[in-house]
Amino acid sequence: MVTDVISSKELTKIDPVFGQNSFDNHEQIVFCNDKDTGLKAIIGIHNTVLGPALGGTRMWQYNNEWEALNDVLRLSRGMTFKSAITGLNLGGGKAVIIGDAKTQKTPELMKKFGEFVHSLSGRYITAEDVGMETADMDLVREVTPYVTGISESKGGAGNPSPITAYGVFMGMKAAAKYQFGSDVLEDKKVLVQGIGHVGESLVEHLTNEGAQVIISDINQERLENVSQKYGAKIYTGSDIYSEQIDVYAPCALGATINDDTVYKINAKVVAGAANNQLADEIKHGAILRERGIVYAPDFLINAGGIINVYAELENYDKKEIMRKTENIYNTTLEILDNAQTNGITTNEAALNIAKGRIETRKNENLK
Ligand code: NAD
Repeated sequence: MVTDVISSKELTKIDPVFGQNSFDNHEQIVFCNDKDTGLKAIIGIHNTVLGPALGGTRMWQYNNEWEALNDVLRLSRGMTFKSAITGLNLGGGKAVIIGDAKTQKTPELMKKFGEFVHSLSGRYITAEDVGMETADMDLVREVTPYVTGISESKGGAGNPSPITAYGVFMGMKAAAKYQFGSDVLEDKKVLVQGIGHVGESLVEHLTNEGAQVIISDINQERLENVSQKYGAKIYTGSDIYSEQIDVYAPCALGATINDDTVYKINAKVVAGAANNQLADEIKHGAILRERGIVYAPDFLINAGGIINVYAELENYDKKEIMRKTENIYNTTLEILDNAQTNGITTNEAALNIAKGRIETRKNENLK
């Protein structure tokens, strides 16, 4: 039954996929549907110049399909640049499953999703993201080899989140060194927004270093658990972005730096795990710069997870994972310097380097 009748004039205005702002020359977008399991998923393959597109699967209750499509496109594009700047031979891809991970995720649905991943013959390799656990990837592994982030007992590198958190911590320290002249976070007031898999682990690093950690989350139970475990203070105010802090660490969902928040942010450093923190990377990146706030680009400092899952493909060990992740500190300092020297935003500086690597490889491949 057709419920929405859109005139052809209106339709030409919409440009539903290729015309989306976040489309940015995606190579392939796959819409997956399965009536029996209720699976509705979108896989975005942004760029495969450096290698197969690797990126996690997010399960989220989107308000509508536009939101889901926009999210997957923004996320898969981000993966292209994350792997490129980290020096990995991987392209960028991502998947979203539309639904509530708490109530709608079943083993059958995960395996059906795995079959769709398999149908792409390795052009896209999945892993976990928000709403996913290592156990879900183990289920996907039953139907396809094109999955990473599986359990150590099943030959995988395990949950990537602690490594992601370590990389974010390294990136945050580098940004602190740049802004405050020292990378020691002791006594620095750090607000961690979102204390899920990555956020909690980041809180642990920060409290070990003696930072004054404030936590916020929409899940009250998690807040109380994490607060008790690490002695972190729960945020109780009414306008989190105006809170006077040293470091803002977005570790929930993306786009928290937007028109409504960018002038309020009362931190000197922004460094967190969430993907796509800047709603508009050009505009909001420039405003942060004008305001003297050091922004550690998300796709640069949250690469620990991809470094961890890449080990499953390249067979390198935990020591090498930690070495590569620790190096995020040096890369962040280089990018911050580069931005300062060239009078551009830190996001732009990181993007330029990532794009340069892809362009070089593209030209080599053409030879
Ligand atoms: P998660 O689902 O375990 O945690 C997210 C947390 O954010 C949850 O506790 C949730 O309740 C909370 N949250 C959601 N909306 C919120 C809001 N408006 N305010 C405060 N809290 C809110 O996810 P995760 O694996 O910890 O990932 C966190 C972020 O880091 C995501 O954006 C993800 O894409 C990104 N990331 C994760 C990894 C990884 O290895 N897991 C790697 C790179 C990037």
